[in-house]
Amino acid sequence: MSSDPSLTGLSFIGFTRGRVGGRTWRAFDPAAGSELPEPFHTAHADEVDRAAELAAAAAPALAALSGKAKAAFLRALADRVAAATPALAARAMRETALPEARCQGEIGRTVGQLRLFAALVEKGEWVDARIEHADPERKPVPKPDHRSMCRPLGPVAVFCASNFPFAYSVAGGDTASAFAAGCPVVVVAHQAHPGTAEIMAGLVVSAVREVGLPEGTFSMVQGDGRDVGQRLVKHPTLSAVGFTGSRAGGRALMDLAAARPLPIPVYAEMSSVNPVVLLEGALASRGEAVASGMVGSCTLGVGQFCTQPGVLLLVRSAAAEAFIAKLASLFAAAPEGVMLTPGIRRAYAAAVAARSARKGVRVLATGPSSDRSCGAQAALLQVSASDFIADGTLHEEVFGPCSLVVVCDNLAQLHRALESMEGSLTATLHASDAELPQQQALLARLSELAGRVILNGFPTGVEVSHAIVHGGPYPSLSDGRTTSVGSNAIYRFTRLVCYQGFADAALPDELKESNPLGIARLVDGVRRV
Ligand code: NAP
Repeated sequence: MSSDPSLTGLSFIGFTRGRVGGRTWRAFDPAAGSELPEPFHTAHADEVDRAAELAAAAAPALAALSGKAKAAFLRALADRVAAATPALAARAMRETALPEARCQGEIGRTVGQLRLFAALVEKGEWVDARIEHADPERKPVPKPDHRSMCRPLGPVAVFCASNFPFAYSVAGGDTASAFAAGCPVVVVAHQAHPGTAEIMAGLVVSAVREVGLPEGTFSMVQGDGRDVGQRLVKHPTLSAVGFTGSRAGGRALMDLAAARPLPIPVYAEMSSVNPVVLLEGALASRGEAVASGMVGSCTLGVGQFCTQPGVLLLVRSAAAEAFIAKLASLFAAAPEGVMLTPGIRRAYAAAVAARSARKGVRVLATGPSSDRSCGAQAALLQVSASDFIADGTLHEEVFGPCSLVVVCDNLAQLHRALESMEGSLTATLHASDAELPQQQALLARLSELAGRVILNGFPTGVEVSHAIVHGGPYPSLSDGRTTSVGSNAIYRFTRLVCYQGFADAALPDELKESNPLGIARLVDGVRRV
């Protein structure tokens, strides 16, 4: 296979390119089962440091940008990404085995995210401006003038996700929200799709140049996370980290960031089992549809979604037995898929084998298999609720097209099973209209468990919007008060600043008395424009 001459394999350190000479590796084509020809070069230690220093130098200028200027940059980038769709999709397909439609759809989502943040910051209200006027006559002490708003945190390190080469990689949601907040970004490319990262990084740099932003606005380092990534996170100029990946990787970065002389927040999206609860009424009225929806959601993208439903809970009955048999037949027929990397494929096979060997676990169905190197079979397993509750390993995410049916003796035991589980991104309830009013305690538990509670639907397919919450208690997110998708993701990269006793001219426009931006603000406790 011929090499792509447009790929240099080098990092982007601001406006300059990295050097050769470090460790090299090649991307792997999971569909072909062979390496791609182009070599990629790990960033040298001094290049990682330089990227962090350039970012720190750019931070004040980015923090001072108007919402309009940030919007112009985000739109310039969105336009470039949209125009480069064919080249981006072609490279990502080779590096990830994701189908063309998925790659194109994900690029569309990435463009949409950039435009969403552009519109948000252009309007300006997101800063949550608050004004409390002074009261010099107040007794016993005069009240000072207080004005507060969100300000950018500073340089952000973004780790690319293996399973989202666009929407959660170089110009994805973490990067877009950090830029929107006014933060410089240093991206750590994922070694599984370095060519896709290089093409995208070139687009970001060209947008930075076009709108005249400082050099350190963006850098992208190639290499492994345990080397270049850890060096970056430890760099004293860094202010925050965005990460999507494994629980072990996210936790390592959280611990590393907490151990710094100056600890910084890590916004890590890690692991989630996304429980689905199926009640008797829904089972009776639309069991077949739930079974086909469930298998579709479990196997979509070869199960490599953070919202893949990994556990289904229901109460034992004759109808439940028939439902499980139907679900098993659908899993048995689900076609084999090609996973993102040999490592992810190995981890999946090992996790299914380990789970199948746990006490009380039965393998109900496995899909057809071939001997493709990254091929993965769907798998449906079953366990009783008592064995599930007793065995914490069954509560862990299996990344891939595997789901575990938990059969409960009654609703009280189903509640106990949910109480034993860790935080998830989503929790789903299938219930009939008639049974819903009696299930307020169940709904309350599901909303304690997850950031998004879904009624009579399925968790895969995350809409990017102002109201989406893609977060949840640990370990689905490192900080369950936040979201990593949607416009609220911007707040991860900000902090509140209060200006006390300032002359009007010295205030940011958002807080000036005349409200020159015309934004809604909380003035003396009343929301007004
Ligand atoms: P990963 O191993 O967590 O790696 C993600 C990124 O973080 C890579 O750049 C990796 O760098 C870096 N990294 C990992 N451990 C690190 C550490 N200790 N210190 C610094 N950086 C570190 O995830 P992956 O490669 O995408 O897939 C591996 C497994 O993660 C999957 O099998 C799956 O179980 C899980 N995963 C879950 C989700 C989800 O949405 N829940 C998404 C993706 C993956 P290097 O590997 O280059 O060192």
